[in-house]
Amino acid sequence: MSETAHHQILIVGGGTAGITVAASLRRRMGGRNLHIAIIEPAEEHYYQPALTLVGAGVQSLAQNRRPESGLIPSGVKWIKGAVAAFDPENNKVELDSGDTCSYDYLIVCPGLELNWDAVQGAQEALGKNGVCSNYDPRYVEYTWTCIKDLKPGAKALFTQPPLPFKCPGAPQKIAYLTADHLKKRGSLGDCDLKFLTHAPGMFSVPLFAAELVKVAARYGIDVRFQHNLVAIDGDAKKATFEVGGGDNEGETLILDYDMIHASPPQRSPEAVRTSPLANEGGYVDVHQHTMQSTKYTNVFSLGDACSTPNSKTAAAIRKQSPTVVRNLLHVIDGGTLEEGYDGYASCPLTTALGKCIIAEFIYGGKVTPTFPLDPRKERWSYWWIKTTGLPVMYWNYMLKGHEWFFKHDTNYVEPTS
Ligand SMILES: Cc1cc2nc3c(=O)[nH]c(=O)nc-3n(C[C@H](O)[C@H](O)[C@H](O)COP(=O)(O)OP(=O)(O)OC[C@H]3O[C@@H](n4cnc5c(N)ncnc54)[C@H](O)[C@@H]3O)c2cc1C
Repeated sequence: MSETAHHQILIVGGGTAGITVAASLRRRMGGRNLHIAIIEPAEEHYYQPALTLVGAGVQSLAQNRRPESGLIPSGVKWIKGAVAAFDPENNKVELDSGDTCSYDYLIVCPGLELNWDAVQGAQEALGKNGVCSNYDPRYVEYTWTCIKDLKPGAKALFTQPPLPFKCPGAPQKIAYLTADHLKKRGSLGDCDLKFLTHAPGMFSVPLFAAELVKVAARYGIDVRFQHNLVAIDGDAKKATFEVGGGDNEGETLILDYDMIHASPPQRSPEAVRTSPLANEGGYVDVHQHTMQSTKYTNVFSLGDACSTPNSKTAAAIRKQSPTVVRNLLHVIDGGTLEEGYDGYASCPLTTALGKCIIAEFIYGGKVTPTFPLDPRKERWSYWWIKTTGLPVMYWNYMLKGHEWFFKHDTNYVEPTS
C-alpha cells in the first residue's frame, strides 16, 4: 500500500548539489527547527571531477567513492528511492515505490542522465574492444586499460557530444593525458589521435580556446569540429560521425579505431523532463541569479539539472548552493531574494600529467580567476589543486556545508596578447 509522508524541506537528489545544500542548510538554520529530507536512490557517491584522473591511471576509482550513508548530514532524513513524478501544484512528489512525499519547500537536484541510447550500438560496445568512457563509473577503469594497451601505430578517438554535458573540458582532458602517456613512452609520433567534437570550437571561452588549440597542436592531435558521434560498431571497431558544418557538412564519416573514448549525450532525468517544473529543454526552469523556480516560489533548483546557462560543474554548485540556502531561508522568513549567483564555473583542464590550466568564468564567458596569475598558463600548482586540493575541499568542506570559499575576480581584465 502506498504511503504519504510530509517533509518541510524536501531535496530531490543526494549527489554533489543535494548533499552540499542540505549540509549548508543545517549550518545556517540557526534557531529554526527545519525538517529536511533527501530522496536519493544510489548507495554510493563518486567525486566525478576525479573520473578524468581515474581514466588516466593517476588515481583509483575506490579513492573517489564514498557510501551515501556517510554523506547525508546528521539530522537529515534519507529516503532511499527515486522520484518518478513531480506534482508542484499540490506540493507533492511520487516515488518509484508508489509512495508520495508532500513538502512545504522543494529543492530539485537530480543531476543529468547519460543517454547512451542516443549513440547507436554504444550500450553493447562499452567496456570491451577498446570502447571506454570516463563519464560512466562502470567503464572509467577500462579507459586506463585501453590507454596502456595502445601500441605504436594505434588509432585513438576522443569524442565530445552536443551540449549540455558535464564539465566542458572533460572530453578533451583525457585526450591530452593519453597523448602525454604516449609521449613519455616514446610512441606519440607513431600514433594517430583524433578529437572529434560536436562544437564549432575548442572551448566556449575564447581566452582558453586559444590555449587549448595550441595544446592539441603540440601533441599532434587531429581536431575535427562539428563532428558528432552517432554510432559505434564494437565488433568491427568503427565509429560513425555526422558532420554538422564546414566543407563536408551533411556527410557521414566512418573511422577505424583501436581505442575510442566516448563522451555520451546527456539530458535531465525523465521525471524532470516531463514535469511542470521544466523549461522547453527539459531542465528545471529557474531564475539564473536567484535559483528560484520561475513558476513556483517554494521550489529551488541547482546543479546539472537546472536551467541556468553556466557550465555544468561541481565548481558551479559550490557557488550556487549558498544562494539557494540564503534565498530559501528568505522565503521561509518572508525576506527579499538575493541575486547571488553570477554563473561562476571552473574547469581544471589537465593538459599533461603534472600540468593544468584552470578555466574560471561567469555568465557571458567573462574570465574571473581566483588567483592573481595569468589564467592561460599551464602550471604544476594547478595540477596539485586539481588532484589534491579540490578533492580535500570537496569531501571535507563543501559536502559538510562550509561556505568559506575564495572569491573569483569579477573585475579581471583579459590580456590582449
Ligand atoms: C568525467 C567528468 C569530469 C568532470 N570534471 C569536473 C571538474 O573537473 N570540475 C568540476 O567542477 N566538475 C566536473 N564534473 C562535473 C560535476 O561532477 C557535476 O557537475 C556535478 O557532480 C553535478 O552535481 P549534481 O548534484 O547536479 O548531480 P550528481 O552529483 O550527478 O547527483 C545527482 C544525484 O541525483 C540522483 N538522482 C537521479 N535521478 C533521481 C531521481 N529521479 N530521484 C532522486 N534522485 C535522483 C542520482 O542518483 C545522483 O546521486 C565532471 C563530471 C564528469 C562526469
